[in-house]
Amino acid sequence: MSDWSPEKGAQQPVYKQIIIHMKEKIATGQWPVGMRLKPQRELAKLYGVNRSTIVEAVDYLKSEGLLEGQGRRGTVVINNSWSLMASDPPPNWEKYIQSGLHWSNQSTIQAINKLEFDPQMIRLGTGELSGDLYPKKEMEAVFKQVGGALTHLGYESPKGSERLRKALSQHLGQFGIKASSENILIVSGSLQALQLISIGLLHTGSSVFVEKPSYLKSLNLFQSVGMQLRGIGMDDGGIDLRDLKQQMDYRKKSLLYTIPTFQNPTGCLMDIQRRKALLEYCKSVRLPVIEDDAYRELWLDEPPPPPIKAFDDSGHVLYMGTLSKILAPGLRIGWLVGPEPVVERLGDIKMQTDYGASSISQAVAAEWLMSGHHGPYAERLRAQIRTRRDTAMKALETHMKDLGSWHKPKGGFYIWVKLNRPISMKKLFKRAADAHLLINPGEIYDFENNAYIRISYAYADMDALEYGIKRLSEVIRRMY
Ligand code: PMP
Repeated sequence: MSDWSPEKGAQQPVYKQIIIHMKEKIATGQWPVGMRLKPQRELAKLYGVNRSTIVEAVDYLKSEGLLEGQGRRGTVVINNSWSLMASDPPPNWEKYIQSGLHWSNQSTIQAINKLEFDPQMIRLGTGELSGDLYPKKEMEAVFKQVGGALTHLGYESPKGSERLRKALSQHLGQFGIKASSENILIVSGSLQALQLISIGLLHTGSSVFVEKPSYLKSLNLFQSVGMQLRGIGMDDGGIDLRDLKQQMDYRKKSLLYTIPTFQNPTGCLMDIQRRKALLEYCKSVRLPVIEDDAYRELWLDEPPPPPIKAFDDSGHVLYMGTLSKILAPGLRIGWLVGPEPVVERLGDIKMQTDYGASSISQAVAAEWLMSGHHGPYAERLRAQIRTRRDTAMKALETHMKDLGSWHKPKGGFYIWVKLNRPISMKKLFKRAADAHLLINPGEIYDFENNAYIRISYAYADMDALEYGIKRLSEVIRRMY
């Protein structure tokens, strides 16, 4: 008899006890890969069981890939990997992943999300402020103040911190938006407002009209829940009303998502007449509007026209804003302004999603807006970004004049560069990355392949920006 034998009459059947015992022998290396087991008759004797019990245990371990019958050599240990040792095989995660509801990111966006953290990359497309534009001194004071004043750090109310909503109500008043704190929902980045709208206000089969191209097309929020994005043509002044009228389908529940101010990705600015006409039309056909105003304060030449929301006297527009572009995306603080029932509905879903944006971030955002730092900082920031825009424009002019065309943006972060030739943007993305240049190819925002690149002048430092554009022109030139 061996020094181990199964316990007869125990809850666990004898053959299972033998399986566990043999797995332990293999796992601990006492029975290494390649070892030949004793003949089954001998094992039966050793463990004091019938031969059929040994056969059952050995067959099981063969089916798991740990043992193998090798003819006259008998039964041999062929594997000791940990995943095979687990008493229950791991689930097939791939199958679960494929059945998940939410669509994956486009592969180019997945690549961008990873490459952004490669320190060798010059990030020519990143829609985020460069670290050297961060107001370190003022933010340090704000964090100190917030930290010192904290007496407890609990959840906030469903719509978010009252202090922040009051501060925002004042802040938005500057732009002509009349919103009481009851009409404001604080969200974890304005992206979350879109997520909440996609699951809280529409049902499968609805349509969402967007500019063609649009930031929203780079996400799969609405498509994942069975809605269709429909691209509306645009010109220099923004969304083309005639095209919207043509595509409007009265039988379907729909809404319109627009970025009228320094649009992402084109940089377009909608003029005041178009804003009013668009709202009038949408009201007349009862098409709700989501206005995304992420870039409002980033004007570079003159302040933009008021938001569409400022002309909305009937609760037709849901308005989104964020601190991400003007201050710091890491705060994850955005807001949604709308009629109370909508704000309450979305706030209710938000409570079921994350129970509120970070209370620390909300306190910092409130203190930032209340402290009086914001106005002077925004003024200073605009001057710095203006210089960056002009630097990027100059570099494009010097190196890419014969390769493409573009307009000078009046605000925001982006220059929408149209290439003269329809080269493969997938190849360009890859070749640029090989040259340590990270670009946002325009097609990730579009409904079809296009030959545009979204260049951002907000992120890379100025030398890198100039050098990057020069280097990019060389990569493109080689493909022409
Ligand atoms: N809207 C627009 C137009 C954007 O460009 C972005 C960020 N790229 C967002 C919303 C999302 O920003 P956040 O979630 O950080 O507020």
